[in-house]
Amino acid sequence: MSMAGTVIYVENLTVTFNGFKAIDKMNFCMNYGELRFLVGPNGAGKTTLLDVICGRLKPTSGRVIFKEDIDIAKKQEHELVLLGIGRKFQTPSVFTDLTVFENLDLALRRKKGILPALFHKNTAAEKERIMSILESVWLVEKMHLKAGMLSHGEKQRLEIGMLLVQEPELLLLDEPVAGLTKDERQKMGELLQTISRECSVLVVEHDMGFIRQFARRITVMHEGKVLSEGNITKVQSDPKVVEVYLGR
Ligand code: ADP
Repeated sequence: MSMAGTVIYVENLTVTFNGFKAIDKMNFCMNYGELRFLVGPNGAGKTTLLDVICGRLKPTSGRVIFKEDIDIAKKQEHELVLLGIGRKFQTPSVFTDLTVFENLDLALRRKKGILPALFHKNTAAEKERIMSILESVWLVEKMHLKAGMLSHGEKQRLEIGMLLVQEPELLLLDEPVAGLTKDERQKMGELLQTISRECSVLVVEHDMGFIRQFARRITVMHEGKVLSEGNITKVQSDPKVVEVYLGR
């Protein structure tokens, strides 16, 4: 495993909780511009890995390097946001009383550190940026609606938009299609593909239909380690994966 060209490089990572190894000497890397799916049974360590990458949890041992030279362990979570790591949790967290546009505006200003957000006029460049994000997340027509009025799928896309407006280089997404309709899932898949042309995306997902349709490369985790990696055909036929999912 070489660090060259990697947006995230994980070497010998161990994370313990009261002696229990949630991640156990894990090695993992992602190249720039990848859309990678992270799968594995409950308790495999997927969320813990995302927590370490976004700076929420510190490694017990091992290294996690962002963009070839930023040692994640030496940064705080908010510093990593500024350096380009965006994290989305499973439940959308948008400001329901603000409009779609205002939510994006707030996210943009949060990154720039300009507060209070709602009492400033947007510059033309800011408006343009917000409009282009609205287009990519298919919410132009809803821009003046209160975010609380959006469907679950629209809220998920808005939250992704709120991350995109901050121009991340790595997005960490936790089950972005959970609870979405078929149509919304299709839109989300296309959105992830579009996003990955500009930034790297690591997605924790359980929905195998969605993974089959949209995943190019999959990492399967089990017991805090990478069990298998490759395209869907490769990982699905890997006897180690079959055993973990179907065996025992
Ligand atoms: P996954 O996301 O793959 O379901 P997690 O990363 O959430 O797995 O958890 C991996 C293991 O670490 C699980 O056994 C879980 O119970 C344990 N774990 C996660 N977070 C904590 C914590 N804060 N304290 C103690 N154990 C934890």
